[in-house]
Amino acid sequence: MDNGSARPIVHPMTYDVLIGGGGLTGTALAIALSQSGLSVALADPRPATERGAQGFDGRSYALSVGSRNLLRALGLWEALADTAGPILDIRISDGRVGEGPSPLTLHFDHTEIEEGPMGHMVEDRHLRPALLDALGDVTVIEAGVTAQTEADDRIDALLSNGDTVSVRVLIACDGKTSGIAKRAGIRRTGWEYGQAALVAAIEHEQPHNGVAHQFFMPEGPLAILPLAGNRSSIVWTEKRDRARALTDLDDNAYLDLLRPRFGDFLGEIALSGKRFTYPLGLSIANRFAAPRVALVGDAAHAVHPIAGQGLNAGLKDVAALAEVLIDARRRGEDIGRVDVLQRYEQWRRFDVTALAVATDGFNRLFSNDNPLLRAARDLGLAAVQRLPGLRRTFIREAAGLTGDRPKLLQGQRP
Ligand SMILES: Cc1cc2nc3c(=O)[nH]c(=O)nc-3n(C[C@H](O)[C@H](O)[C@H](O)COP(=O)(O)OP(=O)(O)OC[C@H]3O[C@@H](n4cnc5c(N)ncnc54)[C@H](O)[C@@H]3O)c2cc1C
Repeated sequence: MDNGSARPIVHPMTYDVLIGGGGLTGTALAIALSQSGLSVALADPRPATERGAQGFDGRSYALSVGSRNLLRALGLWEALADTAGPILDIRISDGRVGEGPSPLTLHFDHTEIEEGPMGHMVEDRHLRPALLDALGDVTVIEAGVTAQTEADDRIDALLSNGDTVSVRVLIACDGKTSGIAKRAGIRRTGWEYGQAALVAAIEHEQPHNGVAHQFFMPEGPLAILPLAGNRSSIVWTEKRDRARALTDLDDNAYLDLLRPRFGDFLGEIALSGKRFTYPLGLSIANRFAAPRVALVGDAAHAVHPIAGQGLNAGLKDVAALAEVLIDARRRGEDIGRVDVLQRYEQWRRFDVTALAVATDGFNRLFSNDNPLLRAARDLGLAAVQRLPGLRRTFIREAAGLTGDRPKLLQGQRP
């Protein structure tokens, strides 16, 4: 018997859905689909223990009311609520280093809407482990998706560990350089901003009272966002070279440069934890669906964080795609058929394009020291301040309370 040439026949693992990418959107989608009875595998080359560890990512997210509703519907919000900081007030002003904010400030107050806080600040170190812990019946595979072959009734994904997974639909949650999207022939539109965001948590003497500040400096905006307790998250945007130089500074030198930008309205400030730097760019996929492939989160759209909406948009994708797939399954349709996936694309396309145009435009208008533009935007802020109806519209939009909202964003199971 010649055992040397005998090869075991390896059958591919089969599931309804394979999600490529176990970031925040990939895990949230895996939970939503699995809770509704679909069989789900989730593949990511980075081990879950590494992704869920403290200090993995320094971001804190301004989650909209809609995103909070989704976390509540998935059974995650109760455990996160104590660690979240409610956003009660947003103040936006033009500023220059050492001068403090311009007197023309735009002010959004949560009492202008009925739903309570306009959103909550949630730290990545709490959100990511909460999502990973809730994966339940999802099969977690520690490998990347490296290739995919589409057939009439399925798509086969080859993983970096040599396994093949055969599914009805492959969902790309693999971030803004999505290999799954590229291999599906989906091109992207976008550019680098030549900016980077310096992110850190700051402790301060005085309470922030739930107020979020956005100071527009010529180099880029500085956001000061209220975390639980006397702490705030800062997103300090600078030109790329300068950001690199600031990243290389020690903590004391860094704080010396931050203080004149931050101001003294919260008393003395100190760093709380590590500092992080994220390069900024825009990258929008030209399509969100291809035969047996759908794109979600940054794989579909990575935008400037100026409005704190990237993850909110990603969680809206999660809610819309989960609803489309679960409805299709109930009707007995093949969930990977292109016309099913196009329902998802149609639902999300306009919203995402509007977000990309708005964030790109705000960044260009506000990261600028041209005196004419500065005067125009100060007048613009003052005009919006005087129009309560318009202010309310902005608040409802940022809180994720407008448009055709998927059920999960309304706190209901699809
Ligand atoms: C400074 C900053 C501040 C922000 N603040 C906010 C905010 O306040 N509010 C808000 O809503 N949004 C905010 N955002 C946006 C938000 O962080 C992102 O939109 C969100 O984290 C994207 O998550 P994701 O899961 O889609 O992608 P990613 O986080 O990029 O995850 C992609 C995953 O795919 C995996 N992967 C890569 N290649 C493969 C492969 N071949 N196969 C399988 N897996 C693979 C990676 O390991 C990773 O785990 C901010 C962004 C920045 C930069």
